Amino acid sequence: MDGDLTGEQVAVRDAMRAFMQREVAPNIDEWEEKEHLPRDIFTKLARAGYAGIEGPPEFGGIGLDHFSQSLLFEELGRVYRPLSFISVHNMVVSLIAHYARPEQRANWLPKLIGGDWWAVFALTEPGAGSDVLAGTANAVFKNGRWVLNGTKVFISNADRADVIAVAVRTEDRDAGKRSRSVFLVDRTTPGVQIPRWEKKMSYSAHHTCQVDFVDCAVDESRLVGNRGDGMMMMLSTLNRSRVNVGSMAVGAAEACLEIATNYARERKQFGQRIGEFQAIQLKLAEMAIRIRAAKLLVHDAARRLDQGLPSRAECSMAKVFGTDVSMYVAGEAVQILGGYGILRDYKVERHFREGKVGQIVEGTNEIHRLQIARHMLGL
Ligand SMILES: Cc1cc2nc3c(=O)[nH]c(=O)nc-3n(C[C@H](O)[C@H](O)[C@H](O)COP(=O)(O)OP(=O)(O)OC[C@H]3O[C@@H](n4cnc5c(N)ncnc54)[C@H](O)[C@@H]3O)c2cc1C
Repeated sequence: MDGDLTGEQVAVRDAMRAFMQREVAPNIDEWEEKEHLPRDIFTKLARAGYAGIEGPPEFGGIGLDHFSQSLLFEELGRVYRPLSFISVHNMVVSLIAHYARPEQRANWLPKLIGGDWWAVFALTEPGAGSDVLAGTANAVFKNGRWVLNGTKVFISNADRADVIAVAVRTEDRDAGKRSRSVFLVDRTTPGVQIPRWEKKMSYSAHHTCQVDFVDCAVDESRLVGNRGDGMMMMLSTLNRSRVNVGSMAVGAAEACLEIATNYARERKQFGQRIGEFQAIQLKLAEMAIRIRAAKLLVHDAARRLDQGLPSRAECSMAKVFGTDVSMYVAGEAVQILGGYGILRDYKVERHFREGKVGQIVEGTNEIHRLQIARHMLGL
């Protein structure tokens, strides 16, 4: 597959590979141990152009096609998937680039792309996870300002973000139709409260926060695009970013396969290398087959997005299969390493813990399977 890449695509991939080796790999253990991701890493990503992956060039973005993005996110996932916050930041950039009014684009995009503003995305609520339309957080127009109330949960890195793109119900002037809107709210706005972040089995440095909006008043200028278009904007942006989730999963799976293969070449038991046992060979072959299939699905979905073809089902397939394969491969890699597989130093145990997150975020894999079937059935 690598032989098919253009020189430009190889350069995109290699630049991210070098960035991850230089700026990320040496620090992961410390960040995870301290449950702390320094702001500095966002700034470095932005300086390298990664805060504007989807950004229009006139605002400083690199406007990368989806196929090249998939190569870039494979490299990110190979090393440290919790850095996926940069994909979420780019989702907000993309949402603004596609749907915001011209003056909003001109005001916000340079700050987001230049790294002055770190953006996060707030959709999930305590009673509205998979069922996003059940959300009750709302904004009411009072005395010339929008007043937001409600609670969002699981919001990645909200405690260190500068701005929060939040989806809420808006006044129902259209009798129940088009009733969700997106606001871009500064984290320091009075009425934004972040009372807690959760302790987790992985992604420890990537804080998962509760965000409360308590009579939080913002100007009309903070309403992104048109009132009532919020859910359409969020869902179409999420559709594109799901391919990134699949790409990161493929990268993580490739890392695990590499570690397991090298281990099987070296480790000796019963007087021979374990790679000489057919039981191990069958595992390695199965891992390689599934990774290749996942990579092809991810690349196909990315190319369809680039060609403007219908891609909702294909993006779901790439996300589901990629993340399922990464979970499977990480489990097999731990098994091939035996007891050493669960030791921190060998890294596959971290990929195993991080793999579970991939199957849950940006729509659980069950919900994506249902969407694929609904698409097939025309429902
Ligand atoms: C590390 C992490 C980071 C996150 N970051 C963000 C973020 O930045 N912003 C944000 O808005 N959200 C974020 N989320 C939230 C994430 O998107 C939700 O967790 C996810 O959408 C699932 O919602 P839920 O957890 O409420 O599960 P639920 O919707 O309660 O689902 C529970 C189980 O029921 C299944 N289920 C639900 N409905 C059906 C159905 N109709 N048919 C079959 N099965 C069903 C699900 O598949 C799942 O297995 C994050 C989550 C995690 C773990």
